[in-house]
Amino acid sequence: MSAAALHDLTLAQQGAALASGQTTSVALTQHALDRVAAHAALGAFLHVDAAGALAAAAASDARRAAGQPLGPLDGVPIAHKDIFVTQGQPTTAASKMLAGYRSPFDATVVAQLQAAGVVSLGKLNCDEFAMGGANENSAYSVARNPWDTSRIPGGSSGGSAVAVAARLVAGTTGTDTGGSIRQPAALCGITGIKPTYGRCSRYGMIAFASSLDQAGPMARSAEDCALLLDAMSGFDPRDATSAETVQLHDGSPAANQPGVIGKDLAALKLAADLADAARPLAGLRVGVPKEFFGEGVSADVLAATRAALGQLQQLGATLVDVSLPRTELSIPVYYIIAPAEASSNLSRYDGVKFGHRAAKYSDLNDMYRKTRAEGFGPEVKRRIMIGTYVLSHGYYDAYYLQAQKLRRMIADDFQAAFQVCDVIAGPVSPTVARAIGSSTDPVQDYLADIFTLPASLAGLPGMSVPCGFGEHGMPAGLQLIGNYWQEARLLHMAQAFQQVTDWHQRAPATLA
Ligand code: GLN
Repeated sequence: MSAAALHDLTLAQQGAALASGQTTSVALTQHALDRVAAHAALGAFLHVDAAGALAAAAASDARRAAGQPLGPLDGVPIAHKDIFVTQGQPTTAASKMLAGYRSPFDATVVAQLQAAGVVSLGKLNCDEFAMGGANENSAYSVARNPWDTSRIPGGSSGGSAVAVAARLVAGTTGTDTGGSIRQPAALCGITGIKPTYGRCSRYGMIAFASSLDQAGPMARSAEDCALLLDAMSGFDPRDATSAETVQLHDGSPAANQPGVIGKDLAALKLAADLADAARPLAGLRVGVPKEFFGEGVSADVLAATRAALGQLQQLGATLVDVSLPRTELSIPVYYIIAPAEASSNLSRYDGVKFGHRAAKYSDLNDMYRKTRAEGFGPEVKRRIMIGTYVLSHGYYDAYYLQAQKLRRMIADDFQAAFQVCDVIAGPVSPTVARAIGSSTDPVQDYLADIFTLPASLAGLPGMSVPCGFGEHGMPAGLQLIGNYWQEARLLHMAQAFQQVTDWHQRAPATLA
């Protein structure tokens, strides 16, 4: 195969090319490494492990040569968000606090993907401790949107989105606490899915807000996201909120383990093809929440989203008006709960057990103070202070407790909507990607999370699917939100959409 074609292949196509002997894992990996080096200015990677990747690729080729039965991802190069701890590669969470940190173990998600045979090229840039929506909070480097390098890629999984959109690798891992998979996927024109809370293990995923954090895949197509998610997901006894049992699309129970989503998706596809192959979404009720289409959404994003809804109708879906009346409240609720949990989770970075420690200090308190002042960036400090405040005596009831109650009501609103629809659709981000450095006020950025926060607070699966381009030729994403465990349903819908649209196949012209 010609070298130029390799980076255009999806994960599924790379897997097929490997299976048929058209290419080798070493060839794919070397090509990806060359491309990562050529496009280093995009700032996608914080660490590249060329030697480790080539060794893993050679091992995959050897497995194949020995005739071992291999899964579809064996030998395919990917990369991990630097929020997942990795034994063989440094882990920083894009924070100075963890400069030089080496984990003694692999995150479960990393280990599961490794068991599926993937080759990890290295660690991807992100916002510090996954706090942010622009990748501007990375302590190490600016990440640039491949569609216009003067613009943000979104965040916090910005590097994960850049690497896929620039076709450095065909798939990456990300994490989503309040939108960090969906929003950068939308802003970079790629596909990403945040699973139901509890589907993927949080073990070894550096904690931000533990009641919200979820891992998920980012790739160009829904088909590739399905392959990755299928390998990443599963019950893990080392994560106290990991789910032992999930549901299939018809509501029947199944053990949470790798392979479940793939089988469920295959069953859905078969049923749809048998019923009416031309209208694979026949019978599906798509809820359109009026709060997602009101003021605050820019005209270009609205137009792209509406056009996508029309496409879903042509595929057989019925649109149903629904309401998520507490959508606006999700912003204050999230920006109380997430910092509260963060302030607690980040108390472990005390200069004693992990990472950075100030060089000079007079006593223990002074050591803590200087270590944390030096190690954390401004946004992380802001959130630790907000979190500490809302949890403090005298304020707890007014803020944290109140937010918890509203969180429950936001989840109830979704259940009311799901009485009349199967899936909810709307925009991911109210605008396309803004210019790097153009934000003057953190609250302005918090407001842009309005459409991703509700599903996070409810623990529901949410997906971003490329649905067109808006102002400045920048990509927009369609968000699909399912009820609990309906990931296969979302992936099936997205696949059907991607069979009749080519937004996900477009690539930035400057990066041929
Ligand atoms: N943008 C949101 C925040 O800043 C979401 C981040 C995330 O999902 N990790 O908290």
